[in-house]
Amino acid sequence: MTTIKLHNSKTRKKEVFEPLDPNNVRMYVCGPTVYDRAHLGNARPVIVFDVLNRLLRHVYGEDHVTYVRNFTDVDDKINAKAAETGRSIKDICDETIAWYLDDMDAVGAMQPDHMPRATDFIPQMIAMCEDLIEKGHAYAAEGHVLFRVRSYKDYGGLSGRSVDDMIAGARVEVAPFKEDPMDFVLWKPSNADQPGWDSPWGIGRPGWHIECSVMSYELLGESFDIHGGGNDLQFPHHENEIAQSCCAHPEGEFARYWMHNEMLQVEGKKMSKSLGNFFTVHDLLDQGVPGEVIRFVMLSTHYRKPMDWTEKKRVEAEKTLRKWYAQAASVEAVQVSDTLISVLADDLNTAGVLAEMHKLSNEGQSAALRAALIIMGLMEQDTPTWASENEIDLSKQEAAFDAVRTEAMQSKDFSKVDALKSALIDAGVEVQMSKEGVTLKPAAGFDPSKLAGLL
Ligand code: AMP
Ligand code: ZN
Repeated sequence: MTTIKLHNSKTRKKEVFEPLDPNNVRMYVCGPTVYDRAHLGNARPVIVFDVLNRLLRHVYGEDHVTYVRNFTDVDDKINAKAAETGRSIKDICDETIAWYLDDMDAVGAMQPDHMPRATDFIPQMIAMCEDLIEKGHAYAAEGHVLFRVRSYKDYGGLSGRSVDDMIAGARVEVAPFKEDPMDFVLWKPSNADQPGWDSPWGIGRPGWHIECSVMSYELLGESFDIHGGGNDLQFPHHENEIAQSCCAHPEGEFARYWMHNEMLQVEGKKMSKSLGNFFTVHDLLDQGVPGEVIRFVMLSTHYRKPMDWTEKKRVEAEKTLRKWYAQAASVEAVQVSDTLISVLADDLNTAGVLAEMHKLSNEGQSAALRAALIIMGLMEQDTPTWASENEIDLSKQEAAFDAVRTEAMQSKDFSKVDALKSALIDAGVEVQMSKEGVTLKPAAGFDPSKLAGLL
């Protein structure tokens, strides 16, 4: 069996991955808070853990992996959006979840086996709060339930910091009802305008961290294999998840391997609305950037390195994929090679795999290339919707367009030519006009269905 090595954030070492039960390898990844479209950075963990999911399924078998990724559908950002738009929270969450699944599907991410919503687990969250209070790890105060951080001696183990260092460095919320400023909220009171559930502490709602402890326990048990998410979640979110879960279920180990992807930047800068370089996955897809290109660019940087999204990389990725699809289109895939899997199994060395694929392409090993495209999730359909430039024959359309143009030159009425040109561009066709004639080429976002009836 292939040996998988993963960098464990908890031990800060690359370790050989040994699942608790090879018949049921279990992974939990923190999902999105659903109040708006996923930005490009949000797609990074989705793609990274999708590759890991595919690798695990390849090694342990399709039916021997359970992958859970949650939806945070109770959060003050969602409440704010509801207040701002006058829409219901349910509406906003349902719409955002549907968008999210569409966008992640477009970048080739398989759906996890379970996608629990936090609000479906409120009774279990209340029960965990009660249990933590009973065990002396939490206390109720003024309608809140707070986790008593000093009661868990290993707190800070994941990020490798002491509680005192964290107090000094973090923006901890000081509140009169807290025993200690480090204590964090498990449950908080809701007013009439906020979503709330009946609880022993009055009408309230959960704090953010408790949901992942509850849903991972309910769906994967008190000990499971891999827990993932972006780097920004290590502290406080993951640190707090560990404290809650290990105190509520001391018989278990909670997550054994912790994996964190680094952040995505755009052209060397942090993506932010104020810098004007913020965009969503949907924005890119809308501009005609194929989802496979987004995926390819993401895979070209190792997940533990900061990833820089650049226009140059996007253009290069599209060129490479066009070439590879043209090569792979006409062959049957073979079994993916052990060499390629062992590169991937070395802490998800996706950049290394792409280098191997370049070699396969240069050596003309089209069947092996096709197998590699499939395992990397870059070839979800038999024929990619934006097949190779060389395969698309637009010569008939060129001749027809040429005739329209010749006519226009005589009549000096170019309105038909202009209308045709914009319709072609809308169909993702690059239009080049010269004295010699018209050249049409499929470009990003080429949609042959829009050509029907045009010419
Ligand atoms: P959120 O909806 O903000 O909780 O984020 C959902 C996921 O996206 C989390 O795993 C975050 O760590 C991850 N994430 C957010 N911003 C970025 C970014 N710029 N680069 C990579 N991952 C990110
Ligand atoms: Zn989480």
